[in-house]
Amino acid sequence: MIERKSTPKRALRIVLLAVCVLILLVAASFAPTLFVKTGGMKELKGRYITVYYEKEEAVARDVFALADGQSERIAKALGFEGPQDIRMYIYDRQSTFQTRKYGLIALLLNLNWYIGDNRGRDVLLTSPAESGTAHGYEEIKQAAIHEMVHAYNSILSKRMPLWINEGLALYLTNGDPPRNLYSTSNVPSLAQTHTASPLEFANMGGYHFAHTYIEYLDQTFGWEAVLTLAKTKDPQAAFGMDETRLYEGWIDFLKENYSAGM
Ligand SMILES: [Zn+2]
Repeated sequence: MIERKSTPKRALRIVLLAVCVLILLVAASFAPTLFVKTGGMKELKGRYITVYYEKEEAVARDVFALADGQSERIAKALGFEGPQDIRMYIYDRQSTFQTRKYGLIALLLNLNWYIGDNRGRDVLLTSPAESGTAHGYEEIKQAAIHEMVHAYNSILSKRMPLWINEGLALYLTNGDPPRNLYSTSNVPSLAQTHTASPLEFANMGGYHFAHTYIEYLDQTFGWEAVLTLAKTKDPQAAFGMDETRLYEGWIDFLKENYSAGM
């Protein structure tokens, strides 16, 4: 009887031990996300932004010049009176950037297009000098100010929908929708514009369409109303109409402005 009892107990102990080891491994894989700053990072301080960099100093100065030069315009556009303590961390290696955002697990996913992000008001960026990413020097540099908009957006509203958040970042910085967008791609459905998945967002052409949505709202209702939407996330409060009507208006706007070549 004693032996028969001890076997399940022993099995339970082994399972518990395995669970503990697993929890420790998962915790360890997230350890890099605890510190956005890597050892020995130096800083460049502007009025609106502080840039931290590793060894690539000339590149950091180049990104700093762009970010510092654009900061006031972006902050003012988003309704801020003064500096908001935005910090930008530039990592020489893309792998360092990715593990600071998502932990060691990111390295298994081989996301060579993933070069910049934000965590609240911290902007995390791969150095434009890093080769082997899916983007060129200039593209990564422009991503710096795109991510800066996300940092400001995180102060404006805690859970800003992806569609609005990306639309604002694209419209205010590096968005470049082709003039034949409407005639060459499927327009996302109203339900699709609610997605919280970055992958679905990319697949449905979100990086072009979200830009045109903010452009439509700005041209039709004015920038103040767009800012109200960013802060309240409430189309009724911002534009006095519901999302379905806005969606229909946007489709007309696309037909008119993005049908080149039809
Ligand atoms: Zn973005």
